[in-house]
Amino acid sequence: MIRVGVNGYGTIGGRVADAVTKQKDMELVGVTKFTPDYRAKLAIDKGVRIFHLDADGQAKFQKAKIPTQGSLQDLLKKVDVMIEATGEEVASGNKEMYEKAGVRAIFEGGEEHELTGFSFNANCNYDGAKGRKYVRVVSCNTTGLCRTLHALKTSFGVKKARAVLARRAADPQETGKGPIDAVVPDPVTLPSHHGPDVMTVLPDVNITTMAIKIPTTHMHLHSLIVTLSKKTTREEAIAAFEKEQRIMLVEGKMGFKSTSHVIDWARWKGRPRNDVYEAVIWKESVTVVDDNELYAFLGVQQESIVVPENIDAIRGMMGAASQADSIKMTNASLGIAEPIR
Ligand code: NAD
Repeated sequence: MIRVGVNGYGTIGGRVADAVTKQKDMELVGVTKFTPDYRAKLAIDKGVRIFHLDADGQAKFQKAKIPTQGSLQDLLKKVDVMIEATGEEVASGNKEMYEKAGVRAIFEGGEEHELTGFSFNANCNYDGAKGRKYVRVVSCNTTGLCRTLHALKTSFGVKKARAVLARRAADPQETGKGPIDAVVPDPVTLPSHHGPDVMTVLPDVNITTMAIKIPTTHMHLHSLIVTLSKKTTREEAIAAFEKEQRIMLVEGKMGFKSTSHVIDWARWKGRPRNDVYEAVIWKESVTVVDDNELYAFLGVQQESIVVPENIDAIRGMMGAASQADSIKMTNASLGIAEPIR
């Protein structure tokens, strides 16, 4: 059993913790929690062990009558791998702590590639994680782009890729963030960081991205334009997406008229927290112009697409399974359909 801890029980950390409990070869030893709130209570109800950060944290949890099992330092003594999901302001500073404790750690997409020197996507570079002490799982948008471009690169080669990202402004619970009524170039300069970030995983893909922030909370939507190295047809492009892991093709004619309908699909499917682990491509949008210029709409559910990647990164670092076996196990545990091969 691989013993896993989670530092930062938030949007990503909470989901990865739940996913760890679904793996037959992993044990969730515990999670750190900053604040004794309803999420802490729900964690206890689920049987998740909570660790406080320090003496101040311990006092806060004692006052709220929520039991903890020790401190973050105690947790570090009991795990093989930590998921470091506290977020941009804290996570990079914690690397030294993991080094001192001799514990492997997985960082998330808000950190710089240079922090770990290796950025991970299960479809693209699983084997490169083997034996590493520190790995960074790339961000939600980069994950969606990596899966999509990997499918195209493997089947046709990619001469250049261009993407315009309409980004959700905030996660649903982030009530203090905006905009409420604006479209914000984000950033106003080009390229946005997503293109260079894809190249940390797929260094030979020529990609430029630009991004805007829009007043929604549930998903990002990319408009993709990719020049392929080989002539291809729309049908061949669709077949390439169908055989890639963790890409879901949806159809407007089946009711998927918007990102809201993708979230509705997840609700009706009974996915926890309406999660959509797959990169979502609208089938009707896949269009090939001039024999090798491919267009498509790509949807990314930001809170959940990186969850299976974190699970595979754990096995990859530990050398615990082959790429194919790990992806298969993770998919089965989370209800992700196997691709059509
Ligand atoms: P979040 O704010 O939802 O969660 C962070 C959690 O860490 C919170 O529960 C917070 O209370 C806790 N925390 C803060 N300081 C702490 C500390 N010192 N010690 C322990 N816990 C502490 O953040 P998130 O959205 O889950 O982001 C985490 C990482 O995942 C970031 O790198 C982010 O870029 C990346 N990511 C986020 C998304 C997304 O859409 N939310 C998608 C992909 C990747």
